[in-house]
Amino acid sequence: MTTASVEHYELIVIGGGMAGLPLTQKAALKGRNTALVEKELLGGTCLNRGCIPTKTMIHSAKIMHHVRRAAEFGIVVGEPKANLQAIVRRKDEVVKPIRDGTYRSAGKIKNLSVVEGEARFEAPGRLAVGERLLESATIVINTGTEAMIPPIDGLADVDYLTNRSALDLTELPESLIIVGGGYVGVEFAQMYARFGSKVTLLQRAGRLVPNEEPEVSAVLMEVFQRERIEVVTGAEVVGVRRSGGDVVVSARVGAELRTFQCTRLMLAAGRTPNTASLNLGAAGVETDRAGFIKIDNRFQTSAEGDWATISPAHRCSRIRRETTPRSSIAPSLRVIPARRWINGSCRTPCSPILPSDRWD
Ligand SMILES: Cc1cc2nc3c(=O)[nH]c(=O)nc-3n(C[C@H](O)[C@H](O)[C@H](O)COP(=O)(O)OP(=O)(O)OC[C@H]3O[C@@H](n4cnc5c(N)ncnc54)[C@H](O)[C@@H]3O)c2cc1C
Repeated sequence: MTTASVEHYELIVIGGGMAGLPLTQKAALKGRNTALVEKELLGGTCLNRGCIPTKTMIHSAKIMHHVRRAAEFGIVVGEPKANLQAIVRRKDEVVKPIRDGTYRSAGKIKNLSVVEGEARFEAPGRLAVGERLLESATIVINTGTEAMIPPIDGLADVDYLTNRSALDLTELPESLIIVGGGYVGVEFAQMYARFGSKVTLLQRAGRLVPNEEPEVSAVLMEVFQRERIEVVTGAEVVGVRRSGGDVVVSARVGAELRTFQCTRLMLAAGRTPNTASLNLGAAGVETDRAGFIKIDNRFQTSAEGDWATISPAHRCSRIRRETTPRSSIAPSLRVIPARRWINGSCRTPCSPILPSDRWD
């Protein structure tokens, strides 16, 4: 039991990602004494291991692709070669100033305290962050998601990549198997294929990006075929094992048990919410079986005073059904209800403007 004195805030936001950051800044600028708790880096997934780093590296891959096609446009060049060290360095050089700027601007905001560390509920309205105790009548949970690690036989003995580590590889895999054909799997598949790896994508569903319209999956399949990316749909990965320096993946494809071999394995099998370490039970915040926070149509959790932003930490089927049109710019839309909430106008359901949680 800690004996630290308790810090009181009008608002505490847990998680400094693309949903938590603007909410916190807005509240502090409106004069509310606000704390933002972040256990890793401000900017969260999008800035540090999602949208921005991936799109930066994808741009390098696109240039590689254009150079390969240069002859079609009457330009004579040699065979291009990806220098992953330089590509990763460039990605870091793009991300770092944005992150530094985020810290600088957060540091300048009066009424905003950035608290570094992992938040854990001790009681309703009370959080422990390391030795510190924070209290507020209003706590917004915006803790995002991580790559889901599926229960595959043998995985503990195999060195696998996720979206975090696949952004820092400095050696190009000769061959790469990606498990999962959602948006993360497909972007990494095309990127590494364009860099020069032989890529195989194993997708459990019957098509790529099954949350998108079927037409999108069909176009992707066509492009992937053209770019020699092997896609196996209906593939349920059941086991992995090491074989020399390689990884052997077994998957049930229809009635068949097939094996695939690669030098590197990447898991992109979905996202899991960062809620396990929050000790939500102590605050009376309920989750579903997958750990996503249950919310009502005003984003309120089952605990009075605790709110969840429309972010990966929670989801509900009602939100999914009402989401039209399907948008791909989730984070910016996501904070609109939060803004309304700060302004005190989110008393009626905010759902018509909700984004889908497809990006999470
Ligand atoms: C590979 C990849 C590519 C993507 N590309 C795109 C794209 O191109 N366009 C797009 O719109 N979206 C994209 N996304 C999705 C986008 O990253 C997310 O929608 C967005 O980051 C969600 O923001 P968030 O604030 O809800 O959560 P996050 O950004 O995940 O932020 C949550 C924060 O909470 C912190 N946290 C967690 N638990 C605790 C705790 N107990 N205490 C304190 N802090 C905690 C985490 O460290 C994290 O910083 C991509 C995602 C991935 C993985």
